[in-house]
Amino acid sequence: MLHIALHFIAPAVLVALFWRKRWWQSYLCLLAGLAIDVDHLLANPVYDPLRCSIGFHPLHTWPAALVYLVLCVYPRTRIFGIGLLLHLLLDAGDCAQMPGGVERLRDYLPW
Ligand SMILES: [Zn+2]
Repeated sequence: MLHIALHFIAPAVLVALFWRKRWWQSYLCLLAGLAIDVDHLLANPVYDPLRCSIGFHPLHTWPAALVYLVLCVYPRTRIFGIGLLLHLLLDAGDCAQMPGGVERLRDYLPW
C-alpha cells in the first residue's frame, strides 16, 4: 500500500521542488508515468504482490528505460520521461523490499 501511495507522493515532492509555476500540469505529466502499468494486463495473474515488475513486464525493462531516458532529453517530453523513470525507480524500491528482491534486481542490472 505504501508503494502505491509513493507513486502519488513522490511526483508531488518533485513538483514542489522543481515545477512550482505550472505545478498541476507537471504533476499530471509525472502521474502519466503510471500508464506503463498497463503492461500488467499481459501477465497472469495481472497483479502479484510478490512479483518484481522490473525486468518482468515489457515496459519495466532496460530497453524501455532507455526510451524513457531519451524522452528526458527533449524539453517537450522531459517531465513525462522523468515520470516514467521515477515509476521504474519506485518499482525497483518495491522489488528491493521483497524476499530475494535485491538479488533479483542485482541480476537484472546490466553492470
Ligand atoms: Zn510499475
